[in-house]
Order: sequence, then C-alpha cells, then structure tokens
Amino acid sequence: MKRTSIAIMCSILLFASCKEATPEKKSDTSMTDNPLLTEWDTPFGVPPFDKIKSTDYLPAFKVALEENQKEIKEITENTAAATFQNTIEALEFSGKNLNRLQRVFYAVNGANTDSILKIAAKEITPAIATHNDNINLNPALFKRIKAVYDQKDKLNLSPEELRLLEETHKRFVRSGINLQGKAQDRLREINTRLAKLGGDFGENLLDETNAFEYHTKDKKDLGNLPESLVALAAAEAKNRGHKDGWSFTLQRPSINPFLQSSPNREARKILFDGYAMRANNDNESDNKAILSEMAALRLEKAKLLGYDSHAAYILSNNMAETPEAVFGFMEKLWPSALAMAKSERDALAKKMKSEGVTGTFAGSDWRHYVEKVRKERYNFDEEQTRPYFEFTAVRDGVFVLAGELFGLTFKELTNVPKWHEDQQVFEVLEKDGTHLGIIYMDFFARESKRGGAWMNALRSQMNVNGMVTPIVTNNFNYPAPSGDSPSLLSFTEAETLFHEFGHALHGLFSNVKYESLSGTNVPRDFVEFPSQVMENWMSEPQVLRLFAKHYKTGEVIPDSMIKKMKDANSFNGGFATVEYMAAAYLDMAWHAKTENIPTDANAFEKEAMEKLGLIDEIIPRYRNTYFGHIFSGATGYSSGYYSYLWSEVLDADAFQAFKDTGNIFDPETAKRYRKMLSMGGSQPGMELYKGFRGSEPEIGPLLKKKGFVE
Ligand SMILES: [Zn+2]
Repeated sequence: MKRTSIAIMCSILLFASCKEATPEKKSDTSMTDNPLLTEWDTPFGVPPFDKIKSTDYLPAFKVALEENQKEIKEITENTAAATFQNTIEALEFSGKNLNRLQRVFYAVNGANTDSILKIAAKEITPAIATHNDNINLNPALFKRIKAVYDQKDKLNLSPEELRLLEETHKRFVRSGINLQGKAQDRLREINTRLAKLGGDFGENLLDETNAFEYHTKDKKDLGNLPESLVALAAAEAKNRGHKDGWSFTLQRPSINPFLQSSPNREARKILFDGYAMRANNDNESDNKAILSEMAALRLEKAKLLGYDSHAAYILSNNMAETPEAVFGFMEKLWPSALAMAKSERDALAKKMKSEGVTGTFAGSDWRHYVEKVRKERYNFDEEQTRPYFEFTAVRDGVFVLAGELFGLTFKELTNVPKWHEDQQVFEVLEKDGTHLGIIYMDFFARESKRGGAWMNALRSQMNVNGMVTPIVTNNFNYPAPSGDSPSLLSFTEAETLFHEFGHALHGLFSNVKYESLSGTNVPRDFVEFPSQVMENWMSEPQVLRLFAKHYKTGEVIPDSMIKKMKDANSFNGGFATVEYMAAAYLDMAWHAKTENIPTDANAFEKEAMEKLGLIDEIIPRYRNTYFGHIFSGATGYSSGYYSYLWSEVLDADAFQAFKDTGNIFDPETAKRYRKMLSMGGSQPGMELYKGFRGSEPEIGPLLKKKGFVE
C-alpha cells in the first residue's frame, strides 16, 4: 500500500491497534452488483452514497485486497529487469480500488456510522495493517525497488519521480526490510513487545483514571460550578453508589471545572494530586517500568535500523529532520514562556494572599485563581459573541476569504449523492470558472458521528492519465439549528471551521502527478500548518467585519468586543505554553537518548524538569506515567509532541509574510502560498517552505503573537 493519509485528524486517532487478520473467504459472484466495485457514473465522479449499503463494504474490501495482492505478485514476478515504470510506478498505481474504498469507508464510518460499519471496521483495519506489512516486508519486491534506487542518478527522472522513488525506498528501509536473520527476528520481537507494552500502558492509565473519585456532601465545596455540571456530579455520585452528594473524577470535563470553581483548597489538592499521580502509585497499574522498557526497546530498534536514537529515527521523516533542530527551536521559545508563566504565577499568588488565604500558592490553586483574575481584569463572557457567529455566516466567511486570497468561488450542488441529508456540497471554482474540486461539508453533531472536527479526501488529486480533481470533506460537531434557534458558534468553534477549511484547501490546491505525494500527504509537523494559518485571518478585525454579523440585526461585531475577547483569551498564555512545552521536552528527553535508558522514571522526569528550570507550581501537561500520546501504542506521537508548536511557528511566520506587504490579502504572496500547498509532499517540507518565504521560518512572529515580546 502506498503512503496515503486517510484523514487529517485534529483531535482523535482514527485507527485502532492492529490484530491478526481474519482468514479471507472466497468472494461470491454477485460482486459486480456491489457499487463499491464499479465505475461511478455520478456528477464529478463522487461516490454513489445513495446506492452504497453498509453491508457492501466488507465484501468489497475482500475483493480489493485480493486484487492488490495479485498486482504486487505481478510486479515481483515480472521477468524483465526492474525499471522505474515497471516497479516504482507499478507499485504506486496498484491498489486503486483498495485505496478508493478505504477513503470512502473511513469517511463514512467517522461521520455517519452504524452497527454494521462498526463491526466491519474491526475486521477491515487489522486486515489492512497486515496487508501493508506483507507488502513492506516483501523481500522480492524490495529487491526490485533497490535495483531501481541504486541507479537513481542515471535514470533522468523528474524531481517528482525521484521523490517518489526515494520515498518508496525509504518506506521499506524504515520498516526494517534490510535487516537479515537474527536482526530481523529481533526487530519483529521488539515490534510485538512494544505493541503489548503500549496496550498495557493505555489500560493501566484508563484503570487508574477511572478508579479515582472525590466525593463530597458539602455543597460549599462546589463554589460557583454551573448547574449543569453540579447535576452531572450528582449523577456521578449515584453511579458510584452514594446515596447523595457529588462525585468528581479525573476526566478533564470533571476535574478542570472543579479546580476552577471550588473554594476548598484541600479538596483541590486531592484531585490535583490524584490526576498528577495516575499510574504512578506502585500498584498493579503502575506504568513506570513499562515506559522505561518501551524507551529502551525503541532505542534498540532505532539502532538496528541505523539511527543514533529513536528521535533521530522518527524525525528523519519529519520537517524538523533532527533532534537538534527540535531542541533548537524550543530553546528559542522556552525562556520567554517561562518568564511569562512566572509573572502569571506572581499575579495569581498575590490574588490568593489578598483573599486572606495563608500558605504557599500551589499548582492545585492555579486554575482557581486564573478564573478570578480573568474575570476581574477583562469582565468578558464568550457567550456574548455567539450571535455574531451563526454557522452559515461563518461558512460564508471562509468562502469570502478564499475568494479574497485566491479568487475561488463556491457553487452549491443539490444533485449529488450524500452520506447524510444534512451535508452541504459545493463545487469549488477558479476565478475564470475552471473546476478545481468538490467539498462536502457536514456541520452538525449526531449520534452516528464521532467527536471533534476533521478533514478527509474522498478522492486525491493526481495527474497521470489526465487530471483527477480532488473531492474533500470537512466535518464538525456543531449544534444543529432547531425551530427558531439557529446554530450559533462560539469564537473557538468558528475558528475550527477556518482550521478545517485550511486542510481542505491543502487538498484542493494539490497539483502533482502522483497520488501518494499529493495534498495532505506531508510530514506530521507540516500537516497542521495550512490549517492553523487560516486562524490568523479569522481573528483579524478586517476579516471579522466581512462575516461576523449579528444573526438578527445584521450588526457587525464591535471592535471593542473583538479586543476584549482577544485579551481575555491570551491571559494565562505563559502557563499554557509552559505546561505544553514541558511535556514536549519530556518526550524528547526520553527519545533523544542515545544510550543508558534510565530505569527510575520518576528520577529521570525530575532531573529533566529541573534542568529546564520548570517552576513547582506547574507540572508538564502530561507526566511520564500518563503521557498517552507517546507511550500508549507502539509508536504513537513519540518524538512528535513538539509538532503542534512547530506548526505554530510556521503559521505565524507565514502570516507575517502577508502582513509585511501591508495587505493581508496580498495577491502575490497568496500565489506563492498556494504554490507551496500545491506541491503536497512532492518535496521536503523545509524546501517547500523556503520556496514560499525565501528563507527558513523565523520564530519572531510567534513570540510576538504569544505576547512574549513587544
Ligand atoms: Zn488540523
């Protein structure tokens, strides 16, 4: 299988962990009736959602997997010498049906699932994982790839062809295809063990999170907790077998509001410590030994594959490329973030003292006093802004922005099949009316949809035998309008629409030859950049005035409200950056080690945080034993937690390019920006960025945006 990202996930992981594939049954003869296996005679070739039944997927996958196996066999059994065309391109073009099927299946399963699709996913996901392993560890196939790779300089390949060859070769090498005998056995052993430990880590964390409870019968403990949350806490208490009172747990929607609202310092400390000590209690759910072993195995694997450290292995595939680059950029941000967090702490401690509370200000006091100081200073309630962000107004806002920047227009299509009647479908047109692609937008929350917001490509752009134009989707969980009440978004929800639309543009602008290098098939630390950058435009008063109009009166959002909102949102920014960065440093501390992985996880964390100068009142957003991003699962986001901030550096610097011209819609800059996105993954991320900006990204604009410098 090619490297094809199935969805851009802004919040949730799509794939479950992998199991053995179930044995395949022979497909029956009625397959020609299966709409997933036929040509699609629909407007623009969109999937025939009106004809596809949930029961069609599983049999279609069986056919498509077999078909792809046959294609691979044909490549490896070709008696002609290996060439770019008969090997690299043949592999790239294989699995066409499987690819199409995966895109549609995962899009529908994410946004409009049912019990049949859920069961199918449990069978399909591990079957595809095994299928991909069988390809990536196929020695006969790799022999031919290597034969082409070894003569790459003599083949007169175009830059994109060369990139395809290099990326294909790299994918096989990174999977361990070059290892022989005992080394390959050991690699398989390590992979199996890591998968087991990663699963155990997650289970322990879940057990420890669920086991904790803080129960109180004293209503005063709740402070000014909103009524809806008081009711939830009462229900939780009943659930846990109490006759009355309120129970709080370590789930963020329970603990965070409590830490904010409760005037009871001791209670806050109990919850805070419970959270911070998860899977670190020297019981059967302790994760310390597990994570140390994982870090050691990852290092051993990296060394087998020829890298100094696990971070070096992971990052060689990212835009940052090396651990030094990651440390380098973090060091530029850390001192200012820490300084700001210290001044925030001082203001909060002062507030606590002014209330006559004695004792030292602590981490468990932070959230409580942030809310108090924020209210005192800004007197701002986010709810006031909702009437200005009715969802159609926000949708039209991104359309207008895309028009201002790139000359695009959007034409609603009412004659195309959809997976749900609520979907809105638009044809995206260039300034001169040329067809660019299709976007499906699915706005409202419903039971059949998973949480969060995300983008998929139902069809990726490619240009092999003529141009195949992209079909992309944006998915949200906004409240549906009902009766007289429209769907009014919070500022953050509106921002999400701009974010996801940025991913959509990345897919729509794609203009490459090969599918596996197109659109959003870019490194992890580049992928959030085209989406985050759109958020910059949204919060500009000049853009807000274009669309943020009161849904009843049509009044444009007042500048004073924008200012208040921005100020209130930026307060406590030092804390947010420091707690995030401390976790990113912790991730790198474990994975950039080139030898002697420590066995005392607590001592190692303590030492790493002391080296940073982290203050006692802040703990990393994730401590060792509950850092699920990096330890739950065989690889997860290990050595990659920095990516979010890296993308922020890019987006702030890229937006600065527009600001520097004195026109945030500057057409020349927009043209260069679009050109960068159009190249997808056909060049390394840094090369693409330099092509747009003329130089590597600077950290200055982000420092300014975060208020770390004037
Ligand atoms: Zn995103």
